Amino acid sequence: GPRFFVGGNFKMNGTQAFLKNLIDSLNASQLDRDAEVVIAPPSLYLDQCRKQANKEIGVAAQNAFNASSGAFTGEISPEQLKDLGIEWVILGHSERREIFKESDELIALKVAFALKTGIKVIACIGEKLEERESGKTFEVVTRQLQAIAKQINDWTNVVIAYEPVWAIGTGKVATPKQAQEIHEYIRKWLKENVSEATAENTRIIYGGSVNASNATELAKQHDINGFLVGGASLKPEFVNIVNARI
Ligand code: 13P
Repeated sequence: GPRFFVGGNFKMNGTQAFLKNLIDSLNASQLDRDAEVVIAPPSLYLDQCRKQANKEIGVAAQNAFNASSGAFTGEISPEQLKDLGIEWVILGHSERREIFKESDELIALKVAFALKTGIKVIACIGEKLEERESGKTFEVVTRQLQAIAKQINDWTNVVIAYEPVWAIGTGKVATPKQAQEIHEYIRKWLKENVSEATAENTRIIYGGSVNASNATELAKQHDINGFLVGGASLKPEFVNIVNARI
């Protein structure tokens, strides 16, 4: 299968000193060489983190706008990420969708723009609790994928993060079976709507209350190619999650 991928989404957490410590210990850790590791600090600290982290560790922004520069107060651009040597950006996180009202369409435009600029994308999708409970999970995930597929043809530099909203920051992790069911569906959707090669090669990673104790079982699922970790990425156990398969 495709290379295992573990992202650490620090969200709006950390200080210069905290992140320096965190990256010092990541740099000093034995990380599974078969795993691609990417950390996503707040944008203020991207430069500091890129300069400090080992080259094998990728760095991601948590958001970026769909323009290179201009009158967009408060935003940062993929071009600016490139200027700092930042390789990745997380787009469509449920917190962006919910709290900041980002639409499927805006997210898709951001995905396309980042890719065009040469920034790789971790594209997040996933249903809310009420959507799952009313049997709408497949419909929601399909709608979110379709919006992106309308804007891009080449998924080579895209990692899809399936993050059920009810599992984010709640301690209520999806069971391996629940996650596998949706990951399998996403892969099938890619096969039928993009291409067989895209379905085979695209990393589909799981996010939502991943920790060192549940990562191993989740990682054994056929269509789970890694994780997007929130809270636990700020702790030493992040290394154990990266090493979940060894
Ligand atoms: P938690 O791991 O804290 O549940 O967050 C998941 C997440 O939102 C990663 O993007």
